[in-house]
This record gives sequence, structure tokens and C-alpha cells, in this order.
Amino acid sequence: MNTKVDQTILALRRAIQNAHLVTPDAAEEYASLNNSYLSGFESDLSPACIFLPRSKEEVAAFVRTIRPFVSDVQFAIRAAGRQPLPGCANIQGGITVDLRSLTGVNVQDGHVQIAAGESWGSVYEHLEPHGLGVTGGKSTTCGIGGLATQGGLSFYSSREGFICDNVINFEVVVASGEIINANAQENPDLWVALRGGGNNFGIVTRFDLRTFKQGPMYAGMVFYYKPSFPDQMAALVKELTSPDASVETHLMLSLAYAQVFGNGNDIICLNQLYYTQPVQDPPALAPFTHVQPQRTEMNTMKIQTLVEAATEQSAAGQSMIRCLYMNICVKADVETLTTGGDIWCEELESVKDAAGLMCSYTLQPYPVSLLENTNAKGGNVMGLDPSNGPVVNVLLLTYWTEKKDDERIIGFMQKALKRIGQNAEARGQLVPYIYWNYAFSHQDALRSYGEENVKKLQEASKKYDPNGVFQKACLGGFKLFT
Ligand SMILES: Cc1cc2nc3c(=O)[nH]c(=O)nc-3n(C[C@H](O)[C@H](O)[C@H](O)COP(=O)(O)OP(=O)(O)OC[C@H]3O[C@@H](n4cnc5c(N)ncnc54)[C@H](O)[C@@H]3O)c2cc1C
Repeated sequence: MNTKVDQTILALRRAIQNAHLVTPDAAEEYASLNNSYLSGFESDLSPACIFLPRSKEEVAAFVRTIRPFVSDVQFAIRAAGRQPLPGCANIQGGITVDLRSLTGVNVQDGHVQIAAGESWGSVYEHLEPHGLGVTGGKSTTCGIGGLATQGGLSFYSSREGFICDNVINFEVVVASGEIINANAQENPDLWVALRGGGNNFGIVTRFDLRTFKQGPMYAGMVFYYKPSFPDQMAALVKELTSPDASVETHLMLSLAYAQVFGNGNDIICLNQLYYTQPVQDPPALAPFTHVQPQRTEMNTMKIQTLVEAATEQSAAGQSMIRCLYMNICVKADVETLTTGGDIWCEELESVKDAAGLMCSYTLQPYPVSLLENTNAKGGNVMGLDPSNGPVVNVLLLTYWTEKKDDERIIGFMQKALKRIGQNAEARGQLVPYIYWNYAFSHQDALRSYGEENVKKLQEASKKYDPNGVFQKACLGGFKLFT
């Protein structure tokens, strides 16, 4: 036992009885845990140890134990490992705190208490028998932690706001090792800071989210052809800018390319559509569901429960693939969105031969109704105001299979995104906000919240973490002082 990290592991064994610590010599268990991230960029990293706490007290003991070592030993916090940002939830040579053993979903009056190791699928299964819904991830496999501390878009976001806007209490282990609550009454500055501030303030052990009465929804996918895409952009902008835009819709419109579709060199268009009431073929979705011509044999639109709709989305829930996201935001402008798609198609030509390529130019709107929830529900630090809206998030999402293609795929995505941003800027349509959950390492999502919010976050950090434990040692994601 020579190195600092070895000393830390020894100290953890002493501090926590039967601590569940997995080192590389437990080869099978270690590989199974470390290979269970969505993205190979996370599994490429090899922590010296993976710690799986079984209670909030063990999380607190971890923080107290690692504190004296933080100048030399780094750690990562991992929930479901679904964010592809390299190193956000894993750490080379350090200690990864894997929260999967913290389980439990408790349905209470008006809210649900969710332990940090749960998945949204399990939360929905608990809520459905009560006729309740919650703003959660759109896939059953997604973790709670990333979404509830970094924004989070849900099927219900147009009506209810970001996922973080609906967290009424965070139970969090802060740098002192204390377990505290952050809500509108207790530690309200930390409550707001955690609504978008990610892993900068502590390890959240439980999330309490407001619930609402909710039945099934009309949901599914519509596949169609590229010549219809500009008209779909016009329909999207018309819906978003209409004074009576529906608050029940959630829309995701994509240009997509997949070698496995067997569609040769063709781009296919995909609308993922949600109307959060049990109404068959609602007029608000008609412009997007009735697009012609379409691949009718692939149309999945139907009335679905929340569990069913989120299960459909989790089809993309593999592990250990090469996978990256990058994003920017623009205003709802037809030319900007259409030209952005053309740019992406042009740049795509350079990587179409990459093995297993599957990628998309995906548009996810933030309607004004979504942005109005932030202030109404206590505020967050993401810096988006209803006067910015409607905003459209432009996500470039790419999956491939061979590590040897990493560099040129990253190059393709960066170049396409840069050109899409320049095009938006030239038209006066760029919104200087980057969505943390879809950001890549070169994109400073945190600074895109604006100076005032960054200052607010820095002040909260100085108050709750005066020695900078979560700045110096928990390196993943975006940090406050670098
Ligand atoms: C199939 C699929 C569907 C998706 N659907 C959606 C969607 O509907 N809406 C959306 O907005 N995004 C979506 N995403 C994006 C994805 O969910 C996010 O990137 C999210 O961060 C992943 O959450 P996770 O809990 O699995 O995070 P991880 O990858 O485990 O961690 C992400 C970050 O959060 C931090 N973190 C996690 N838990 C905690 C905690 N308890 N305390 C402190 N910090 C913590 C980690 O340190 C890390 O920096 C989807 C992704 C996939 C692959």
C-alpha cells in the first residue's frame, strides 16, 4: 500500500464495515461494472476502485474519508452512466462512486422520493398504478442524477418545465460529510444551485419530485423522406410561435443516417411525437403525424402508458459503444433549422463509411410554456428566460463501433456544429446556451448559463464546499472555477 489512492482505499475499508469496494483484481465484477456505461469513452477509463455505497450514511462516510486525500486522489460520481461526455462519471486511476445500490421509490402525497441509484423506468412503474406522472427521462434506462441536476427534458416539459424545476428537495451529502436537505425552506441557495449545477456541490442521495395526475399519452415515431423536412421545419416553427401552442406536446424532429437501416446513402427523417393526453390523433400533432409520403410500415403512433413510451425510447440503451453528443441552441427560425440540416448532411459525407455509423441532427424545442415554469417553480441556474423563447436545441448525436474512427467522427461533429452555429449567428438566431446533458468536452455548458448564474454557483460552492472538494477532486462534467 504505497500510493495515495491505495491509502484512501485502505481508509475506506476501515471507515465502512464490509464496504463494497471493487478493484481490478476482482476482474469479472470490475469489468462488468466498468463496461456498463453507455459510451465506450467512459469505459475506456480505469478507476483504481469502484465503490458501491449501500446507504446515504456510507456516502457520507466516503466523503469524510476522502477529504484529506483530495489533493492527490480524484473521484467520480456515477448514476446510470448514460451521459456520453468523456470522464463525467468515471475517473482514470481514482475512485468511482457507483450509486446503483441506493434503491427505493416512495410515492408520497403530491411527490415521489427517488433514491439516487434508481432508473426512471422503475419510478414510472411505481407511479402508474396511482394514475400519477412525474417529469422524468424519456427512456426507462436513464439515471436520475444526471437529468435532475443538469436540466432534463421530459415528455411533460412543455407543461411542467425542466426535470430539475420539479425537484422539490435534494437530499445531499456535502463536502463536510453532512447529509442535508436543499429545498425552498432549507438551504434554498443550494436547492437552486443544484437545479442545473450538476455534481459541483455534493453527492445527491435522494431526489423528491412533484407528481401530478396523469393518464396514458398518444406517442410514437413517424418515419418519412428528406424532401418533406423543410415543410416540417415550417410546421414546427408555426406550432412553437403560435399564441395558443399546445402545452401537451413534446416534439423531437430528426434527420438520421444509419448503416443498419440498409438505406444506402439515404437520409431518413424521424419525428418522435408525444401528446400527453389519451387522445387518438390530436390536431396539435397532425402536421407531424400526417406528413406524406411516409414509411407507414414503421409508424408506431398509438396510445401508450408512460412505461410503454419510455420503453420505446430505451431501445437505444446499449453499453460500451462509441457514442458522443454535441449541441447548441437557436431560435425557432425555419431557414436556420433547414440550413442547419443541410450543413449536417454535407459534413456527414466524410464519415459515412465509419463502421456501425448511426447518427442524427435532432431538434428538440423548448416552448415558451416550458421556460415559464422555471421562475414559477422556484428558479434554476440555467439562464434561460421566457423572453429567449421559443428555443430549439440542436443535438448532434453519433454512435459508431470502432475506436479507430474516434478522431474523424469528433472532427465531423465539431465542424458540422461550428458551421451550424455560424449560420445561426449570421442570421441573428443563435441562442448562447448549451445544454449540459448533451455537451461535449470542448463546450462549456456551465459558462453558457451567463455570468450572473456562474457567480451564484461559485458563491454556493464557497459556502457549502469551502475547501473545494468537489472542484479539485470530482473532475467530471463542468467545473466552476476553471
Ligand atoms: C437512451 C437515452 C435517452 C435519453 N433521454 C433523455 C431525456 O429524455 N431527456 C434528457 O434531457 N436527456 C436524455 N438523455 C441524456 C442523458 O439522460 C443524460 O446525459 C443524463 O445525464 C444521464 O443521466 P445518468 O444519471 O445516467 O448520468 P451519469 O452518466 O451516471 O452521470 C452524469 C453526470 O451527472 C452526475 N451525477 C449523477 N448522479 C449524481 C448524483 N446523485 N449526485 C451528483 N451528481 C450526479 C455525474 O457525476 C455526471 O457528471 C438520454 C440519453 C440516452 C442514452
